[in-house]
Amino acid sequence: MGIGGQLMWTPLAKELYEKHNKKVVFYNSGGIIKDNIWINNPYISFIKTNDTISINLQKYNRHFRKEMSLEQHGVLTRCLFYNITPKSLYPILKYTDKEEEKIKRLLRFLPKKFLCIEPHSKTSYTQNKSFSFRKWQNVVNELIKHNITIVQVSIPSRTLLDNVIDFRRRLSSFRECACLLKHCSLFISTEGGLMHASVANQNRSFILYSPMFHPKYTLYDIVEHLWVHTDEHQACIKVKPCRNCINQMKNYDEKKIIKKILEIY
Ligand SMILES: [Zn+2]
Repeated sequence: MGIGGQLMWTPLAKELYEKHNKKVVFYNSGGIIKDNIWINNPYISFIKTNDTISINLQKYNRHFRKEMSLEQHGVLTRCLFYNITPKSLYPILKYTDKEEEKIKRLLRFLPKKFLCIEPHSKTSYTQNKSFSFRKWQNVVNELIKHNITIVQVSIPSRTLLDNVIDFRRRLSSFRECACLLKHCSLFISTEGGLMHASVANQNRSFILYSPMFHPKYTLYDIVEHLWVHTDEHQACIKVKPCRNCINQMKNYDEKKIIKKILEIY
């Protein structure tokens, strides 16, 4: 499972903690899940004791595809599966002091107001969410005409956009990247893990949704979005490459994205 998926379990942990006053240990067939994204989470433990609640995520496995097909938020679907109605859908992500301090030092290189962009989407899970790098470049080129400072936060091996501040090598983990997002004025990307992290920060973000599923599945109320889709082809919930989804993403007019961002920035 991806980082976004792991963040989508955190509201359940918070609810269970508040109900029983015990931290949650998530486990599956491989034992206790010790995901880095849960480090420092006040509601999740990596050690099972008499004072923890164990939640078997294995039980949920066969529901993963189903949750994508529902026009209901995945966080809600997951909580309801374990008989919990969550008060909030926002994921919980707590940074360590070390992470916070590093980001504070890095902020010296940036103006007070800046926009963060991740133009690359993770393709190991699905290619159907990717948006053209060339079109993201067009978006950037237009935004800088409006004196917007743009910081690219990809991992170092991914291609760098022109006209952006390169933060790829300054950030050494997903967590540090998410921590930087806390300080930006707007985060823009395609749907994925960083969007969930950005919502945990209660950041403003603009997210481009692929046709592959209905935005309701992962959309939070503080996220601005555009959904690429047609009446004929939407929410196919295909994880394997879908020619129709890929083509729709490829042909989407980036001017709509530019207009939307300029409205909200
Ligand atoms: Zn499709």
